[in-house]
Amino acid sequence: MAKYDYLIVGSGLYGATFAFLAKQKGKKCLVLDKRAHTGGNVFCENIDGINVHKYGAHIFHTSNKKVWDFVNQFATFNRYTNSPVANYHGKLYNLPFNMNTFYQMWGVTTPEEAKQKIEEQKKEAGINEPKNLEEQAISLIGKDIYYTLIKEYTEKQWGRDCKSLPSFIIKRLPVRFTFDNNYFNDNYQGIPIGGYNKLIDGLLEGIEVKTSVDFFTDRKKWETEADKIVFTGKIDEYYDYQFGKLEYRTVRFETEMLNVANYQGNAVVNYTSHEQPYTRIIEHKHFEPESSVYNNEKTIISKEYSTEWKEGMESFYPVNDEKNATLFSKYNELAKKEDKVIFGGRLAEYKYYDMDDIIEKAMGDVLGENYGKA
Ligand code: UDP
Repeated sequence: MAKYDYLIVGSGLYGATFAFLAKQKGKKCLVLDKRAHTGGNVFCENIDGINVHKYGAHIFHTSNKKVWDFVNQFATFNRYTNSPVANYHGKLYNLPFNMNTFYQMWGVTTPEEAKQKIEEQKKEAGINEPKNLEEQAISLIGKDIYYTLIKEYTEKQWGRDCKSLPSFIIKRLPVRFTFDNNYFNDNYQGIPIGGYNKLIDGLLEGIEVKTSVDFFTDRKKWETEADKIVFTGKIDEYYDYQFGKLEYRTVRFETEMLNVANYQGNAVVNYTSHEQPYTRIIEHKHFEPESSVYNNEKTIISKEYSTEWKEGMESFYPVNDEKNATLFSKYNELAKKEDKVIFGGRLAEYKYYDMDDIIEKAMGDVLGENYGKA
């Protein structure tokens, strides 16, 4: 008889939520992670009291009250609201695109004037049916904002010309005719006080976890340990890359400590010109202004460099193109036929999930399909 009900491969947000909920149902779980720590990409490294978002900035936001109440069991969330600032050749603009941005760009002071300006630029461009990201952006917001805040940033982030990228990428960003710099439209937003590890530690409390263990080095042995496997790693690796490798974009972080109390006055500053090779600078302490070290004469910043993924690199963003979608669907056909394996999370589902959607998905997978729904 197997020792565990579930062997959970990967201790990120999906794996940890799954383990917590399964344990509540009386199931015995073993969680493996190949990294030396739990938490997947939400892991924070505490350096001199500052929680450094080691694998990129994570800002929790959701409109799903069930998910919000769920995460609040484990940590208190602060009132952090994401309001990135964009720097284009030394001039600053508020994001997302709102009345502050329109004032900074054109000097307009009312929604009416801003709408008129955008309308004029749309007309000039003469685009009726946007066919790519460039056309979508210009017809949404006009050419001035496109050339100042979108074009070069997007090309740095995706390594591709805006004319060859799908238009939906840009639809993520709100356009508002109010003076509201909140990047998200969700009802709830914040950062766990004490960092994301509090959330992960809470989820995994009382559950057997082995870190620095790679499932694939002893796959046969692990597979006999449990009745079912919850796999959160890369789906193509699970199937020995038999149809070929899925592609990703990856991010390289250059992190440094500076002897100043406050480097840039904001957690996130986007560099929207080609002048800088990085896309943005994160100053981690601003995620937790309530922290006891917030006013110390030290800060930690990370510059983000977006690059094409190669073997051995961390996989961050699935590539949204047809070639990869077709390849994924082949693997997904195999996955659907499994009755002992559950695939969950960004790498196993090859999907660019937000954190709240991951939790909703895990709730549904453990507690019944519709459980996690808002
Ligand atoms: N984007 C942009 N300028 C910015 C910020 C975002 O053009 O200053 C575009 C870019 O194409 C990016 C997309 O909007 O890929 C989505 O941005 P988001 O901030 O949602 O990306 P994430 O934080 O998930 O990497």
